[in-house]
Parts: sequence; C-alpha cells; structure tokens
Amino acid sequence: MIDNCIFCRIAAGQAPANILYQDDHVTAFWDNRPAAPLHILVIPNRHIDSMEQVNPEDADILGRMLICASQLAAQYEAAHRGYRLVVNVGPEGGQTVYHLHVHLIAGRRLPVFHG
Ligand code: 5GP
Ligand code: ZN
Repeated sequence: MIDNCIFCRIAAGQAPANILYQDDHVTAFWDNRPAAPLHILVIPNRHIDSMEQVNPEDADILGRMLICASQLAAQYEAAHRGYRLVVNVGPEGGQTVYHLHVHLIAGRRLPVFHG
C-alpha cells in the first residue's frame, strides 16, 4: 500500500469510492469523471504503477482484472451491446493515475479507434 496513492487508498477502504466489486485481488468502482454512461475502473489491490512495470509473475492479477471487467460488463448488461476496455500507459498514453487500472466504458456508441 502506497499512502499517497489514491487507488491504493480506495482499495484499502481509506478513501471514498462507489465500490461495485472487491475480492482479495481486485477492486472495481465507478470512475468519478465518467466518459460514458457506464465507466468503471478495475484495479489490482496491490500497487502496480502501470503496464510498464508488469512481468510474467503478474499474469494472474492481469487475468483477474480482465475477467472482473468482463463480468461487470455482463452484470450491467453492456456485454451484448458492446463495450471498450482501455489501459492508458505513461504520459503519451494518457495515464494520469499511476496505479494500474482497466477502464470499462460502455453505454453509448464509441468512436472507432484509430490511435
Ligand atoms: P487514466 O487517465 O490514468 O487512465 O485514468 C484515471 C481515471 O481515474 C480517470 O478516468 C479519472 O476520472 C479517474 N479518477 C481519478 N481520481 C479518482 C478518484 O479519486 N476516484 C474515482 N472514482 N476515480 C478517479
Ligand atoms: Zn497504488
């Protein structure tokens, strides 16, 4: 746990968030500045800065994050209409919070992504 990391604090219950799912490995909560009607963040409970830091030992947690996002998409009935999973990495990737997270974005037609 990194004391000045907002997502560590959310996972630890030390900062407020609307938590939708939590287990021993991952936490999911509503993004507080949603980009679409459904905008959920899925994080590892353990601090990882970004995708830049991951290694093969993180395969389990990365899989858990994606499966959690998939299950939440199904729970919120986004799955059949479609949705987007996004991981921003580093300054040019648009990452602003340096605790790894997957964005689950849905509820409107998203523009075709050209990079
Ligand atoms: P990034 O730009 O790093 O990929 O995404 C960070 C996301 O975290 C943004 O969509 C932002 O709205 C969200 N966010 C930042 N701080 C907080 C917070 O304190 N609570 C919640 N729920 N979302 C946050
Ligand atoms: Zn953290």
